[in-house]
Amino acid sequence: MRNTLEQLERLADGAVTLIDGAWVPSGSGRTREVLDPANGERVGIVPEMDAADVDRAVEAAHAAFGAWRTTTAKERSVLLRRWHDLIGVHLDALAALLTAEQGKPLAEAANELRQSQAYIEFFAEECRRLTGETIPANTNDRRLLVQREPLGVVGVIAPWNFPAAMIARKAAAALAAGCTVVVKPAAETPLSALALAVLAEAAGIPAGVLNVVTGRGGEIGAAITAHPLVRKISFTGSTPTGKRLARESAETLKHLSLELGGSAPLIVFDDADVELAVRGALASKFRNAGQTCVATNRIFVQRGVAEEFTRRLAEEAARLSVGPGTEAGVQIGPLINEGAAAAVREMLETARAQGATVLTGGERLAGAFVQPAVVADVSDDMELVRAEIFGPIAPVSVFDDAEEAIRRANATPYGLSAYFYTTDYRRIVRVSEALEFGMVGVNETLTTTEVAPFGGIKDSGYGREGSHYGLEEYTQLKFVCIGGL
Ligand code: NAD
Repeated sequence: MRNTLEQLERLADGAVTLIDGAWVPSGSGRTREVLDPANGERVGIVPEMDAADVDRAVEAAHAAFGAWRTTTAKERSVLLRRWHDLIGVHLDALAALLTAEQGKPLAEAANELRQSQAYIEFFAEECRRLTGETIPANTNDRRLLVQREPLGVVGVIAPWNFPAAMIARKAAAALAAGCTVVVKPAAETPLSALALAVLAEAAGIPAGVLNVVTGRGGEIGAAITAHPLVRKISFTGSTPTGKRLARESAETLKHLSLELGGSAPLIVFDDADVELAVRGALASKFRNAGQTCVATNRIFVQRGVAEEFTRRLAEEAARLSVGPGTEAGVQIGPLINEGAAAAVREMLETARAQGATVLTGGERLAGAFVQPAVVADVSDDMELVRAEIFGPIAPVSVFDDAEEAIRRANATPYGLSAYFYTTDYRRIVRVSEALEFGMVGVNETLTTTEVAPFGGIKDSGYGREGSHYGLEEYTQLKFVCIGGL
């Protein structure tokens, strides 16, 4: 345990990653800095890898696959459970590292790590129930078996907004199914991935089964998508990058799970519990400073409760405390970098110039900080409503009937998640069926859990994570026909 702690402490300045059971620098010797978004200071340094490093990692994962795939589900389950336990032991240190590189408040970072643990624990349990099927044969001298086999080497490509949880839910499912992995964390947040790798190694996950490559997405991401030995890519990130990956991996016909951007509508009907809806909107809009793919992006309120809901939302948003994630009581940390903050502020200013009313927030703050804002009088053609905001700004507009709300909510290329608040049971059924999204929260916005399928439709991608569906995505079917009986 002490060794693990020391390793975690040295990690930030080590400029090494885990490939084939060894902590190694990039082949070229190049490194890159990781910066704290709250103050721009250096948090650590990691290898800047290239295609040759990716090749090393993929070859290692490929070599390890032969033995890993033949372990029993119970053996994999025990190792994953140990990984889960070690994250729990080191949770505070991991949360501090996550906040330092990503910016979110410490309490949110700790929650993300508990969520990561929950995914690992779930897949540790679920892999023991990954069963096949016996099909009644078409003739009596045959037996028809359907088995689930692991796909092989999986490339895990993750974004910066959940530097631990996105990796845990992909890698744990892949490992549980018997695949080996090459993880590519986002360039902004590689340290949490390396910390998870330290603990995976300490848990006893064998050399080569989990490898990490760090560096720029364009360079090493492309090397993973082009590599013939990689059989699947599980990607979470933006829609343009996801589409690019789909094109690039077509040549080698890889399996793909694409968890892409979103533009979640939140609809509040006249008969809703308004306070519940305000709490739901706050949680969904402002968690991680609005930088989540399932964040409420557009709020539609029915005329009868529009004044009350909007006033209450603005009152509560004005109370949110903004500051470095390490400070006690802070609810909104910095955005991932100053460029992201500038883009969000510009979106807000453009909407204001086009006639939107800023009810609270929107003041200029220094660096990567953005004051949470609630904006009324927005129209559906404004960029603030059409784009994925990825910041703490809540645009609110009014609607008259359910048909209008559904039409406007669906009028987006995205289809990840949607929320609505009502107490009418018929409306719960009708509206949840009419919304064109992969996930719908009714009187609830924090819907993500390891036991349910997470994923989108349309420009939000395809594939599901979490639940038994998420495990099956790392397997392929093999049909065995035993004849001559
Ligand atoms: P991004 O697409 O810029 O990057 C995601 C990952 O892809 C990073 O690791 C990046 O280095 C890598 N990458 C970049 N170019 C690449 C290339 N050419 N080939 C291979 N890999 C490449 O996204 P981001 O800015 O890190 O994350 C924010 C986006 O992620 C938002 O759009 C958000 O909605 C989305 N997201 C989706 C989900 C979901 O589950 N649907 C969850 C979280 C975030």
